[in-house]
Amino acid sequence: MDKRQIALLACPVCHGKLVYDPESMELICRNDAMAFPIREGIPVMLSEEARTLTTDERLTPVR
Ligand SMILES: [Zn+2]
Repeated sequence: MDKRQIALLACPVCHGKLVYDPESMELICRNDAMAFPIREGIPVMLSEEARTLTTDERLTPVR
């Protein structure tokens, strides 16, 4: 996914910055500890579709 494209995306819940995790193909919001899926290259920016990060994931910094 294009980094510039990600920079334009904001969390739909807190409007904070998102971090792209290439391993899980998700966009992570650190504030809410939520991960938004990317389906067929399209980020799904819906809080209903997001999953909550596990405790381990919350502690692991995403680059
Ligand atoms: Zn958020």
